[in-house]
Amino acid sequence: MQSGGMMYQQLSIASLIDHAARYHGDTEIVSAVTEGGFERLDWATVGANARRIASALVRRGMKPGDRIATLAWNNRRHLELYFGVPGAGMVCHTINPRLSPEQLAFIVADAGDRMLFVERTFLPLVAALRERLPSIEAFVLMGARDDEAAATLPGLLFHDDLLAEGDPDFAWPEVDETAPSSLCYTSGTTGNPKGVLYTHRSTMLHTMTANQPDGMSVGAADTVLPVVPMFHVNAWGTPYVAAMAGSRLVLPGPRLDGDSLVRLIQDERVTFAAGVPTIWLGLLNALEAQGVGHTTLKRTVVGGSALPPSMRRAFRERHGVELVHAWGMTETGPLGTMNAPLAKHLALPAEDQDRIGNGQGKPIYGVELRVVDENGTILPNDGETQGQLQIRGHWVVDQYFAQGRSALTDDGWFDTGDIATLDENGYTIIRDRSKDIIKSGGEWISTVDLENIAVGHPKVANAAAIAARHPKWDERPVICAIPRPGSDLTEAELLAFYDGKLPRWQVPDRVIFVESLPIGATGKVVKATLRQLHGDVLWDDAVAGENAGG
Ligand code: AMP
Repeated sequence: MQSGGMMYQQLSIASLIDHAARYHGDTEIVSAVTEGGFERLDWATVGANARRIASALVRRGMKPGDRIATLAWNNRRHLELYFGVPGAGMVCHTINPRLSPEQLAFIVADAGDRMLFVERTFLPLVAALRERLPSIEAFVLMGARDDEAAATLPGLLFHDDLLAEGDPDFAWPEVDETAPSSLCYTSGTTGNPKGVLYTHRSTMLHTMTANQPDGMSVGAADTVLPVVPMFHVNAWGTPYVAAMAGSRLVLPGPRLDGDSLVRLIQDERVTFAAGVPTIWLGLLNALEAQGVGHTTLKRTVVGGSALPPSMRRAFRERHGVELVHAWGMTETGPLGTMNAPLAKHLALPAEDQDRIGNGQGKPIYGVELRVVDENGTILPNDGETQGQLQIRGHWVVDQYFAQGRSALTDDGWFDTGDIATLDENGYTIIRDRSKDIIKSGGEWISTVDLENIAVGHPKVANAAAIAARHPKWDERPVICAIPRPGSDLTEAELLAFYDGKLPRWQVPDRVIFVESLPIGATGKVVKATLRQLHGDVLWDDAVAGENAGG
């Protein structure tokens, strides 16, 4: 008979906070207060509070697997729920407060949430929606007892009362590692949002591999600033990574404008941050406007939409910040790829290194990628052939919540809806969303390429490219651009900027100057809205031209 073996322990989220509380207990957590200012606590206190919340949930009859929802900014109470809810065996369902009231009511009903923890900011919204949230048995204000708030929602409970009544020595229940831990909904730009149910195991494995040296590369001496919201795919796992590493954590609350972020980075000596390009654009503009050069910030992970190469260059050259480009989605836990060079890349000319660094990087351990054509035929990893990007791995969705059917291809891969190229080492370039890519006379034009060039123009603050209907070519590119304040940018000037950077037939037919771009619930430009607004300009021009010509 065979003897010998190793201990077996379940991978559990409770073990993360226990580690942080025990070995990094006096490491500081800085948390924005929604009403203004900051509060300071530490991992030991967050650990005790997570147990207090867990015990209060159990005392109120919440059972393993029950969904407990949050509508909250990045702050310490949200952090307590990130650990306390799954620690108690329940599911932490983080809801995006920027969704429409209809989508919010839909999501709560679909998830069957039993309790809702709500930030004061969102109390009026929730009070108005009360009748449309029948599954919610208890609403909890994420703050101290407050009579005025209590009057808006009968039966309202208070987070701080739950902490006071809770047991800081509550014994975590045994939770199987395959049990669900958190629930995140897709942004649902087409159709209703769908729930992705993460498990303790998927979260723990994601946490371990996200923080490799070629990934987030965060240590105990770092100060981590998750700017990506905790209501969006678990803030890319940064709170869990910070707990595992024992890093100092700065939670920014609702103020994410460039000036607030510059102040926070400087005041709290932030070394690592994570966020989407739109927010980083604000940060970059604020740094430039204030004439701030280098700060303590050394490294940031950027993803959620394509990182413009001009932004990566500006951060590196003027502010000493390395932008690590990452790709992922709600369905992929979220991280799929992160960008770090191979040894052989370092010997390449600077422009080739740049080209590789500007892309989305390579699969992190634990996921695999492939590209296929519309018939499902696997395409070569040659860095040129573009196709539908598919993924499989430890933290990739299998079935959407309560859908009762596989979300995968017959051979077990998840189709991301992105169009990409992969090279022989798996370096990925996302060309576009398949529904956004422009199909001009049967050839594809990447909106990402068009946008990257436009935002590289010194007089452009931001830009988005869309497909406009065209009588001859089916679709042609149009670029919607926000000029920098006070600039005298003309259409001809911006179009001339494309010369030599792209084949002529890919250059946009028109520039439309806009004051703002429609930004969706997850901080990305909503192309569908832009297409509705401007998708007919070329058609209208053509018709007007015909009429004018008689
Ligand atoms: P979400 O589920 O809301 O996080 O959206 C996921 C989608 O965002 C992906 O399918 C991509 O289309 C897009 N996305 C995420 N990261 C990137 C990136 N680094 N570059 C380009 N697109 C990205």
